[in-house]
Amino acid sequence: MSDTIFTKIINKEIPAEILYEDELALAFNDINPQAPIHFLVIPKKTIITINDIESEDKALVGHLYWVAAQIARDKGFADDGYRAVMNCNENGGQTVYHIHLHVLAGKPLGWPPYQDRLKTV
Ligand code: 5GP
Repeated sequence: MSDTIFTKIINKEIPAEILYEDELALAFNDINPQAPIHFLVIPKKTIITINDIESEDKALVGHLYWVAAQIARDKGFADDGYRAVMNCNENGGQTVYHIHLHVLAGKPLGWPPYQDRLKTV
């Protein structure tokens, strides 16, 4: 099991603006927000990437989306809409190797989310 900065947040060894916590998951504001509302929902269990999700984790990953939706409803942006995404590995833009659902809201979000670095000929 590899520890990341998120393990320290789960263990309250470093501070975070926590929005929700239960026995399975934690939600907290992203330190570098990319939208007016940007928080992360993470499992307390360390799962390194999406590729490491095992059969026994399926309900846990679904729970992360459920937590996101509860917070969206409680904060009043559920009906306006939001994006809930996970990045995977280098090409997906993952920098912290403990899976996390990014929840972005508070403005219309562009799609695709990034300019593709591939050159077309
Ligand atoms: P990734 O790039 O792995 O998809 O997303 C990692 C996210 O974690 C980034 O949006 C980054 O701003 C956020 N992040 C990294 N370190 C910290 C931290 O110490 N505290 C908080 N609240 N967010 C962090």
